[in-house]
Amino acid sequence: MSASEAARWQAVIGLEVHAQLRTSTKIFCSCPTSFGAAPNTHVCPVCLGLPGALPVLNRAAVQLAVRTGLAVGCTIAPRSVFARKNYFYPDLPKGYQISQAELPVCLDGHLDLELPGATTDSPTLQRHARIQRIHLEEDAGKSIHGEGGAQTSAIDLNRAGTPLIEIVGHPDLRSADEAVAYLKELRAILLCLGVCDGNMEEGSLRCDANVSVHRPGEPLGTRCEIKNVNSFKSLRDAIAYEIDRQVGLLNDGQRVVQQTRLWSQERGRTEAMRSKEEAHDYRYFPDPDLPALVIDPGEVEILRLGLPELPAARRARLRAEQGVTAQAAAWLVEEPERLRAFQAGVQGGAGEPAAWATFLMTQAIAALTRSSRAFAEVTTAARELARICDKWRTGGLSNRMLNDVLTQGFAGEEPLFAALQTALTGVGEVVSDTAALEATVDQVLAGLGPQVEKYRSGQVQLFGFFVGQVMRVLDGKGDAQAVNAILRRRLG
Ligand code: ADP
Ligand code: MG
Ligand code: ZN
Repeated sequence: MSASEAARWQAVIGLEVHAQLRTSTKIFCSCPTSFGAAPNTHVCPVCLGLPGALPVLNRAAVQLAVRTGLAVGCTIAPRSVFARKNYFYPDLPKGYQISQAELPVCLDGHLDLELPGATTDSPTLQRHARIQRIHLEEDAGKSIHGEGGAQTSAIDLNRAGTPLIEIVGHPDLRSADEAVAYLKELRAILLCLGVCDGNMEEGSLRCDANVSVHRPGEPLGTRCEIKNVNSFKSLRDAIAYEIDRQVGLLNDGQRVVQQTRLWSQERGRTEAMRSKEEAHDYRYFPDPDLPALVIDPGEVEILRLGLPELPAARRARLRAEQGVTAQAAAWLVEEPERLRAFQAGVQGGAGEPAAWATFLMTQAIAALTRSSRAFAEVTTAARELARICDKWRTGGLSNRMLNDVLTQGFAGEEPLFAALQTALTGVGEVVSDTAALEATVDQVLAGLGPQVEKYRSGQVQLFGFFVGQVMRVLDGKGDAQAVNAILRRRLG
């Protein structure tokens, strides 16, 4: 497809996001929600759907849903209703899922997405993405197919009845990047609220992407819903693929058929799963076993007062009060543990919070990635890391020494904070004594007569070569600024 053909089409995307709520018990019974127990041990007559068992709504799940709604600017419905969504699936023992249909608990919110500015470090606000609704529902169990090469399928119902919220967005997003930014912002909010653990690989946070294309000014096109998206990368790839597919069809004079499609990361494409004609008729009706959910406005106000500082405000404050770059602020706020590590370093005396934030995001994470340590150790070693950052920043460690300290520290057997202290002592001090540095520079230049000649006759790009030669003699421990200054003087 040529660029001009592509330009005639505008992509339109709306996401439906499911988040598992971090309650200790299930939504309609008191079975634990903890992950990883032996199959079918966290079950009872209610979540097994045995006849006569009665559901009782978990107050904590409602509070988490309301907190989420308030954080994204929703109205909280004073009265909402649970319905039965009827369909057969082996891991749905009741034959229906309890969900909210016409009357959900939260309505009409939005996310303001900050998309990176093209040329500046400051993010530009580019999309006001509306949220239609947030409703409460229960999760299904899990089917496990062909375990250990067996020709059978097994069912684990531990997850059946785990509380979920579904956050339904309006079709306000216009590109794969915007969809990723939307999901990232939503995830950051859920983590910041403690509503969900945000783990996409384990399925605690799941996303279906609705994609269509149309010509600007004309009605929206027919959409396809893409399932099985379990990372930011697959969300971006799946949407990009689907936009191309639909534009290709339309440019060929064909039409887009409304479908549910599955994303295959290995094959790099979406594949038809079912069409609209085969779509379920869920025959929703109010669950006669559950009274309407009535929420007292006073309780909503108490929950509103209890909201923490949200990611957007936190980013703005990191930039305004601590001079942190937009990129580092976005990175810090993505995961609460990063913010905790940052704060621990600031409290431990990091000289310049902005430099410490960038150091944490780049050098510290690079060293962590090369090691087998967990991020939690970065937090407990934040004071040592911040000290190392300061020492490097103020010229007390050369780049080479910094690299040695981090590599040795992260590779050590001891706890990270102790290993870093040992490595920092071991690396010694930077050579900044002027007389000693001058002697080394003179000795090095004396052996490089021809190159010095070339430099003086105009090949100034040789400067870096001289710095490298001097640093090599100094075992990488020379004060870089001092070495540069002396070389400049000597070379004239
Ligand atoms: P349904 O009830 O069939 O799931 P909804 O109207 O509630 O349909 O929409 C579900 C999701 O599809 C929402 O996230 C919405 O933003 C998205 N959506 C609706 N229409 C379009 C469209 N034309 N293109 C892309 N996404 C759409
Ligand atoms: Mg839907
Ligand atoms: Zn149960």
